[in-house]
Amino acid sequence: MKVVYLSPEVAPFSKTGGLADVSGALPQSLKKLGAEVIVITPFYGNVKADKHSLEKIDIQFEVKIGDRVNIGGVHKGFLPDTHVPVYFLESERYFDRMGLYNYPGTTNDFPDNSERFIFFARGALEVIEQLKVHPDVVHCNDWQTGLVPVYLKTTYAGKACFRNTKSLQTLHNLVYQGRFGKSDMDLTGLDRSLFNWKQLEFYGQLNFLKGGIVFSDAISTVSKTYAEEIQTMECGDGLQGVLHERSKDLYGIINGIDYTIWNPETDKYIIANYGIKKLAGKQLCKKSLQRTYKLPERDVPVVGMVTRLAKQKGLDLIIAKFHDFMKLDIQFVLLGSGDTMFHEIFQGFAKVFPEKVAVKLTFDEPSAHEIEAGADVFLMPSHYEPCGLNQLYSLKYGTVPIVRSTGGLADTIIDVRSEPVDGGRVNGFLFKEYSADLLFATLVRAIDLFRKKDPWQRLMKNGMAQDWSWERSAKEYLALYKKVAKGHTC
Ligand code: ADP
Repeated sequence: MKVVYLSPEVAPFSKTGGLADVSGALPQSLKKLGAEVIVITPFYGNVKADKHSLEKIDIQFEVKIGDRVNIGGVHKGFLPDTHVPVYFLESERYFDRMGLYNYPGTTNDFPDNSERFIFFARGALEVIEQLKVHPDVVHCNDWQTGLVPVYLKTTYAGKACFRNTKSLQTLHNLVYQGRFGKSDMDLTGLDRSLFNWKQLEFYGQLNFLKGGIVFSDAISTVSKTYAEEIQTMECGDGLQGVLHERSKDLYGIINGIDYTIWNPETDKYIIANYGIKKLAGKQLCKKSLQRTYKLPERDVPVVGMVTRLAKQKGLDLIIAKFHDFMKLDIQFVLLGSGDTMFHEIFQGFAKVFPEKVAVKLTFDEPSAHEIEAGADVFLMPSHYEPCGLNQLYSLKYGTVPIVRSTGGLADTIIDVRSEPVDGGRVNGFLFKEYSADLLFATLVRAIDLFRKKDPWQRLMKNGMAQDWSWERSAKEYLALYKKVAKGHTC
């Protein structure tokens, strides 16, 4: 099975969110299962070529965008400690700048994002041809790759290299669709007739992700619940109809996590390593977290959060009840970056409650690990959550998740009330309705249990013992690739 994995971000080279973690891990697991897999991603200005020993290789390609012919180059590296090759598409014009999709420190998208990812989509197909890969499946991820299935069924359909190539479009977050003005259709080089409401048009705009959904041979998303949710008006973001139409080809495969990176027994970023049989280190991590964030070193529940500061993440629920939260004997530590409105609000809380609230408003990988290890409880009250990775990291770190029952959160967290804790399955706290009162009541439930040391420790250990490694999910992807390659996906 020859697979080309296309992703706009791949950890550890570039990252804005969970997609990078997935793209850094899934290809490795696929390779272990016997697939021949290569990864293609942009060569952003942030990618550290020296640190990752990337080498420029002797391939040049051309992509015509509008009237301009753009020449691209290629750098090659490997996913760390593996033989999975990663090809980085270079373009001074489109990628040699800081920031992946928007100006760093802002939420303002780059104005040329459509051109950038037309360049990436076509560039990737050009490079695949030059590498003579003849893929069985091109696995596309998110809107930035959405035009690839379109090109494969049109411009590139007659090419020998792609004669037996099928495409899978994975949706990691349906809110980000890559919508651009109608005039950008001319930049794509695609026939204008494709700009119609059944194909690339979305209420008068050009929609890259819709292209991926309509033209791919199969579609997947990152949890079974989210696969259902996106076919509804509430979560479909306007694409529910198209998705429903393709529901026979739509699959939900939950993400795994990479235990070589997220494991308290070996984590290099934390002050003391620990595991299910040796929990003492977690206390040291908690104290260190309190010291780092200048919070009193008390044995109160530390509630942690690591998140993009985006509406999706349920921050409005926290804000609505924050003053009630502060009446509880807890500490709250937040690591996040994103929307400046949220920066200001949480910065304000930290000023008003310096003994109880600490925030770090930036993107910082080591701090994410410190919070996972040092907190007692991890908060994810998301409005929607396609899969969510942090709840899975939290389980491994013995940091009990409180989550809203949506998407991947609903598929991975089992509320402590639903079964006896001794059964080993329950692993956190869940609330259903998107309500600040319910979130607050659930936090109170968690704090009550925290005080009962024995059941709390069992709950922690249940989560720590569960296996959310990539192997199982990679097997599901491989089975799906095989179905797609054979041409029957239902
Ligand atoms: P999403 O992809 O919607 O952002 P996920 O839970 O799937 O959410 O993945 C988020 C990933 O990004 C996790 O690896 C998390 O640790 C990381 N992350 C989010 N915000 C930050 C931040 N401010 N600093 C460091 N890592 C972060």
